[in-house]
Amino acid sequence: MTDTTHAGPPPLDPATAAGAVALLQVFRSSGSLTRAEVGERTGWARVTVNSRMDALADCGLLVEDGTVVGGRGRPATRFRLDPTRAVLLVADIGASGMRLAVCDLAGVVLRRAEVPCAIADGPATVLGLALEGLARLRDAVPGPPVWGVGLSVPGPVEAATGRVVSPPIMTGWDGVAPADTVRQWFDVPVLVENDVNAMAAGERAQCHPDVDDLLFLKVGTGVGSGVVSNGRVVRGAQGSAGDIGHTWADTPDGTPAEPRPLCRCGKTGCLEAYASGWALVDQLAAAGHPVGSVDGLLTAVRAGERYAVAAVREAGRVLGAGVAQAVSMLNPSVVVVGGQLAEADEHLLAGIRERVAARSLPLATRDLQIVRSKLDGDAGVLGLAAGIAERVMSDPDVLLAAVAR
Ligand SMILES: [Zn+2]
Repeated sequence: MTDTTHAGPPPLDPATAAGAVALLQVFRSSGSLTRAEVGERTGWARVTVNSRMDALADCGLLVEDGTVVGGRGRPATRFRLDPTRAVLLVADIGASGMRLAVCDLAGVVLRRAEVPCAIADGPATVLGLALEGLARLRDAVPGPPVWGVGLSVPGPVEAATGRVVSPPIMTGWDGVAPADTVRQWFDVPVLVENDVNAMAAGERAQCHPDVDDLLFLKVGTGVGSGVVSNGRVVRGAQGSAGDIGHTWADTPDGTPAEPRPLCRCGKTGCLEAYASGWALVDQLAAAGHPVGSVDGLLTAVRAGERYAVAAVREAGRVLGAGVAQAVSMLNPSVVVVGGQLAEADEHLLAGIRERVAARSLPLATRDLQIVRSKLDGDAGVLGLAAGIAERVMSDPDVLLAAVAR
């Protein structure tokens, strides 16, 4: 029953696909189980358990995983999902470079590449680079079929259509639906995501799988954030939910209340306009401390330059005021801070913690953890893999089409 050569009738049909999807969810959350354990967890009749397990095994998604000795001493076979049954292709596209990867169904990266790009070169050039790169990586993992492609971009993505909408830094991308281009290369389900939403999903999938409510804050050249609530990325009515980078900021200590600085989004006085990498570089230059770039700022912080440490600490406080409002509203268990500026020792996180503790509701902060990302820039890739895996394995029709590939 573990034959995966696909000879004979298709292993799943519309009548059995829904049951197979339900069983997939059981194994995805539980790992390795015997038939009896599946029955205990689901309450399904034995005949139902057996037919659903046989269906998943026949399409190569379920494999034997050793035996355990049962209550009366009879060994029982354990089963687990086989994540090598298919691969997922992901492209985490940033402003100046992209991370490409081939992952298995559990999100383990099998092959990876980093490719420089300039997002403002426009969708034809940038998507061409991404898809050529993914095709090359895919050729290095021959065998398992491609079941999905996940792609993220550094701008707002309309949830219903997957279109990029009014992106501040993505010249030429307004109204573009990247999935249309992806499907010219790979005729599979495509997930298009905002980059920070993908990172929030990746942090949750990889580092906080038991946490259902999480806020991810990225502080790099810009500021963005994504929210996981009840275990799902929150998108809102149009797809712009969860981003506090362009909300109204406190005026930092020692800064005149007016005029408020112009932001890249066209408004003035956003969190990003005071506390992002680009804003700090501008502020320090105006104050007679030219650091040149975000890298230069980090070098100055690590060298203990007081002006740089003070600027990052104050940026943390400004961000913390914004995070405090989100914490009061959303009550996350964990706030994960990533991006280049999160690497500035503890100064940024210290500023954030200080303001969140002072301003959020006590009940919301009682067990709140504010931690630095441990994924070293891979959060987006891992979040995209988790997202596209979820899409393929939670919808009977999509799974049915996938196993026929
Ligand atoms: Zn803004």
